[in-house]
Amino acid sequence: MSDDYDVVIVGASIAGCAAAILFANLGARVALLEKHSGMDAYKVLCTHTLQPSCMPVIKTLGLLPPLEQAGARRHVTHLWTRWGWIEPRPAPGREPLPHGLNVRRQTLDPLLRRLAAETPGVDLRLGGGVNGLLEENGRFTGVSTTDGARLTARLVVGADGRASTVGSLSGLPVRLSANNRLGFLAHYRGLPDDDASRVWFLDPDTAFAFPNDDGVTVIACSPAKEHHASAFRADLEGSFERFVRALPDAPPIDRGERISKIIGTRDLPNVYRKPYGPGLALVGDAALATDPLWGVGCGWAFQSAQWLVDAVGPAVAGGGDVLPGLEAYGGKHRSALDSHHKLMEDYSAVRPFNVFERLLLSAAARDAGAARHYHAFASRLIDVKEFASPGSLLRAARVNALHRLRK
Ligand SMILES: Cc1cc2nc3c(=O)[nH]c(=O)nc-3n(C[C@H](O)[C@H](O)[C@H](O)COP(=O)(O)OP(=O)(O)OC[C@H]3O[C@@H](n4cnc5c(N)ncnc54)[C@H](O)[C@@H]3O)c2cc1C
Repeated sequence: MSDDYDVVIVGASIAGCAAAILFANLGARVALLEKHSGMDAYKVLCTHTLQPSCMPVIKTLGLLPPLEQAGARRHVTHLWTRWGWIEPRPAPGREPLPHGLNVRRQTLDPLLRRLAAETPGVDLRLGGGVNGLLEENGRFTGVSTTDGARLTARLVVGADGRASTVGSLSGLPVRLSANNRLGFLAHYRGLPDDDASRVWFLDPDTAFAFPNDDGVTVIACSPAKEHHASAFRADLEGSFERFVRALPDAPPIDRGERISKIIGTRDLPNVYRKPYGPGLALVGDAALATDPLWGVGCGWAFQSAQWLVDAVGPAVAGGGDVLPGLEAYGGKHRSALDSHHKLMEDYSAVRPFNVFERLLLSAAARDAGAARHYHAFASRLIDVKEFASPGSLLRAARVNALHRLRK
């Protein structure tokens, strides 16, 4: 293949591989560049729970059957709150609730990368990191790589994660905000089988237990820095295990075997970049790396790839002007994710639940309809406005009033 393509995508992880497959399926010639040289490379620092919102893209990509064959677990998330467990269930006689998937990145990433490499029209080039952007007449026209290649295209896509080189080189506006929680995780085997993903909202600390492929349960916690940073710095292993053992209805980690190191991070700011510029788009974490507490980044990486291809795919594959489509992509990205991210950003500063969250969560712990409403929100199937609509707040207030009367 020559070094001129319809689209050059930087980063062959979730967002990059999904975009590459979807562009190529429209007939585009795609260069997919990845700095790692191994086909089986995967993102280690991730708890990889996939929200129901991204299942349509997973199905479009043809990824659901191979993932399930590889052991991916369907799941609905149950949440512990001080008002009790929120355990969403389908309404009597109705369809099952929309489910997500739990599958380790060591399973997901290589499978998705192979699918991309096998898609006609995708030229996967491993082992050459992108270190420069080519520009002509005020628009981005390609990239240069550490191994000396120069690739041109009508569209450059940055799918290179939260520290995006493409995002930085492009000079697109970026907003950073502090995340005042720590994040640690470990993999366990031999824990009791559980169909649900579990999240503990200790307000402000949080913890997670996600059953995954191959009998592995991922246990994670996000304690507030202010109260826990020094203890976790002094004794990571002891602090992590004590924290998990102290959870209400704690996962019985002492009955299982920890099969990974405890890994994590003490600093993970929220990063929000404008997702497009002239001849260039950002997808996945390169555009928006939000607080991992909510388990949305992988799903949004799939979804933003789909939104980009919906908006510019026909122009990219058909030789048309990509600029109007890029603006449409920016609009879709903002309308779909802005309200979610603003709430997550606000909560990552570490504040107690606000009055609306207390009302909606307490009702969800007491009432099946309110639990389904919370499930739709946490699955990112409805936005903040719909979650906290006047009607939902009124219904939640009624649930709580009845609860008080019955006591
Ligand atoms: C602790 C933690 C827990 C998380 N848990 C969850 C969760 O449970 N659920 C969830 O949905 N999300 C979770 N996330 C977020 C999730 O990991 C990311 O949102 C997701 O990986 C984003 O995918 P991506 O394809 O955009 O970027 P990435 O997966 O980061 O991939 C970027 C790719 O670009 C490549 N690359 C980078 N720079 C270059 C370059 N210059 N040239 C070429 N290639 C390059 C990288 O090697 C990599 O392959 C978590 C994140 C953290 C930190």
